[in-house]
Amino acid sequence: MKTNAAVLEAFNTPWRVVELDLDAPGEGEVLLEFIASGLCHSDESIRKGLFGSARLPMIGGHEGSGIVRAVGKNVRGIKEGDHVVCSFRPSCGHCDYCNAGKSYLCNESANSLIGCLPGGHFRFHKDGVDYGANSMLGTFSQFAVVSEISCLVVDKDIPLETLAILGCAVPTGWGAAVNAAQVRPGDIVVVIGAGGVGLNACQGAAHAGAAQIIVVDPVASKLEAAPIFGATGGFTSTDEAKDYVKSLRQGGADHVILSAGVGGLAEAGIAMLRKGGVLTVAALGDPAKYRLDLALSPLVMGNISIRGSALGTSHIRTDLYKLLDLYRAGRLKLDELVSQTYTLNEINTGFDDLLSGRNLRGVILHGTH
Ligand SMILES: [Zn+2]
Ligand SMILES: [Zn+2]
Repeated sequence: MKTNAAVLEAFNTPWRVVELDLDAPGEGEVLLEFIASGLCHSDESIRKGLFGSARLPMIGGHEGSGIVRAVGKNVRGIKEGDHVVCSFRPSCGHCDYCNAGKSYLCNESANSLIGCLPGGHFRFHKDGVDYGANSMLGTFSQFAVVSEISCLVVDKDIPLETLAILGCAVPTGWGAAVNAAQVRPGDIVVVIGAGGVGLNACQGAAHAGAAQIIVVDPVASKLEAAPIFGATGGFTSTDEAKDYVKSLRQGGADHVILSAGVGGLAEAGIAMLRKGGVLTVAALGDPAKYRLDLALSPLVMGNISIRGSALGTSHIRTDLYKLLDLYRAGRLKLDELVSQTYTLNEINTGFDDLLSGRNLRGVILHGTH
């Protein structure tokens, strides 16, 4: 069959919407009609060639929701007509990490930047060339063949347009606070970056009982939106925030959650921690610039921890359904996160808005033209 998809054929060129050939689903694979796809900064990083191992041509998009239109052989637990959320990290259910309840490290994610499915299959083609799909998904395509291990079947009471951002932004941010940092009641939390991930880190920290949640972001409209998600204060730079945070109880924050991949922010975050504090890094960035350069002795004497968190350290096959129940109970905000929607053809505008801070989370609705 044919599908329209936003693809990257060369680094540092705009997303281009092209028509591709799409194979039928093979064993363990399903054909999805994507309904909605979030716009995440990681796709922009791939476009700029910052992740050197990314194979082109590639269909973008790694958070999305859709409807199962066909299933291949030996697919269990997914049937035609099901609604699914696709996570950018698959969970195969039988590697060491999945068995240990750590599917955020699933071995099957190894080909995410190559874009082939398990077994090395490419399902998108054009003029004899194989097109990979970001994170084995390619949510910027109207239709896609994906592995069953990337799909989470969900009940149909919540619109798919609402669910797309559960594939990356929501679990990544929420889980950075709840699962990785393990924020405790009364903690003081600083969240650097108030985009799709950072605002969800605020929601997670608020649920965990943080006494203060201080957001740092240069964009005024994001600081204005942050209290909806639990933020108690905001600053436009780490320089501005530092004195205030250091003046707080115990001389700093219990936790700093880094959701913006900008050089220098990790050091600035560590400087705001109290003794025994933890920096949780949830953002990707330019590996050439987004680095740590600091003396290690103060970390020792201050008992400071630094940890990374992939997909919010979420075991998505259980955590997703907890998030859905919180949404149903009115205790997790999803609709408020999506400040702007776009057609597939407007994708470059969507990324421009992301980069200039004009949206909190932008979402492509494939059904609109
Ligand atoms: Zn993402
Ligand atoms: Zn696995």
